[in-house]
Amino acid sequence: MKANVTYWLDESARRWPDKTAFAEEGKEVAFGELQRQAMALATQMLERGLFKKPVVVYMEKGVDVLVSFMGAAYSCNFYSPIDVDMPASRVNKILEVLNPALVITTAALKETFSNYEYQGGFLLFEEACHAAVSEEKIEAARRRGVDTDLLYVLFTSGSTGVPKGVTITHRSVIDYIDWVTETFDITEKDSFGNQAPFYFDNSILDIYSTLKSGATTYIIPKNLFAQPVLLLEYLKEKKINTIFWVPSALIVVAKLKAFRNVDLSDTLKRVLFCGEVMPNKQLNIWRKFLPAVLYANLYGPTEITDACTYYIVDREFSDDEPLPIGIPMANTDILVLNEKDEPVTGEEIGELCVRGTSLSMGYYNNPEKTREAFVQNPLNPFVPETIYRTGDLVKYNEYGEIIYLSRKDFQIKHMGHRIELGEIETAVSSLEEISLCCCLYDEKKQKIVLFLEEELEKSYINEQISKLVPEYMLPNKVISLPKMPINANGKIDRVKLKELL
Ligand code: AMP
Repeated sequence: MKANVTYWLDESARRWPDKTAFAEEGKEVAFGELQRQAMALATQMLERGLFKKPVVVYMEKGVDVLVSFMGAAYSCNFYSPIDVDMPASRVNKILEVLNPALVITTAALKETFSNYEYQGGFLLFEEACHAAVSEEKIEAARRRGVDTDLLYVLFTSGSTGVPKGVTITHRSVIDYIDWVTETFDITEKDSFGNQAPFYFDNSILDIYSTLKSGATTYIIPKNLFAQPVLLLEYLKEKKINTIFWVPSALIVVAKLKAFRNVDLSDTLKRVLFCGEVMPNKQLNIWRKFLPAVLYANLYGPTEITDACTYYIVDREFSDDEPLPIGIPMANTDILVLNEKDEPVTGEEIGELCVRGTSLSMGYYNNPEKTREAFVQNPLNPFVPETIYRTGDLVKYNEYGEIIYLSRKDFQIKHMGHRIELGEIETAVSSLEEISLCCCLYDEKKQKIVLFLEEELEKSYINEQISKLVPEYMLPNKVISLPKMPINANGKIDRVKLKELL
């Protein structure tokens, strides 16, 4: 049994040493070279005595980031990507939680990182990738490592303002990617068009399916997602046959009817999506223009390794019908529990909970949040068995498929980003002028709306809080009220505020 994802890279490098594994604009890396560079990085980490330690990768999105991920994996350390556009105060919060043993970065970015609260060592990518390889040291590390060792930590929004680090093991990724490559029949002939940032778990599918099957992943330049015709031309030119995007990205293409200008019927084979609701209205446009493509709706939070249910679109839907999130993936069990923690019956609504190998080991260095979401299976009082409570409310339809309805809490999805409204409120509340504030999401208009009692301009607030939260969390609308409505429990009355949207 292979306990480390890098055995996939070993095999692909042996079979297809010169075939492109990952490509960005103007740069690409073949499997053989990817393996050599990653092993060089791993050797450096092992020579520093690092084993099972957190390693931050702080670089612009590109193939070098993926080499660094594999370097961490070969050395049995675990990586955590930090977005170079993230505000400093949030980076510092992540560093406090993670306390990394090493930061892999470039000489240019090291300068920026030196402003953060970090006193540890650096590995400069441009030097380390040329370093000598010690296969013995790597093999010794991999022999010591086990499949339940961590592979990565991805940070997601936390309601109290402290990001939560979701930990994922080698075993969970191996299990998930085995399912992906079998279900969608991915081989070395396939090519992915990557949209997901590497700090977002959707990228796991592109990265690891490529490593396992010898496919190629093209990292699509971000600016193309604002220019749908150019985006489709890019897919055509690179002969990309599989995409796994957030629905927001698919919706932009559908809205602008870019298919009228570019015909992808000869190249595009699979359109997979995950991360938020995919409206049938826009999916129907894709289906109309590209009827032979396989469409699949994947569902799942970062905490269960990207996705845990799927629905391969196999029938017609009207524009206003919900698209099912489908059925559990292999080696995954879904429990839909009602308020009494009993399995739902009929069309009763319940919380989707997950059981299986895909589960995260918990939030890094955060036992309290871990205990809230990763709990004992209430249906099994006999032995310890953890389930993950997603906070998503769902029900079964007449076909036995799961239908996503809404969230139980104040987590939202905005343009594909997972956001805790509480994190925005915490940032706004920290401003001196603010007494009371509340954030709601206007689903219809897809806007983050901030309510407050002070007369303050949106531009002022956003400028201030952009030092605390990423750009995608900035409120789209600010409503000043003479008095915040308060309910019988003395809390801000969100129901009343909703009426004002
Ligand atoms: P993330 O951890 O960023 O992947 O976000 C996970 C959350 O996104 C889930 O708990 C759901 O609320 C939502 N989500 C993910 N996939 C889907 C989907 N296919 N349909 C509806 N909501 C989804």
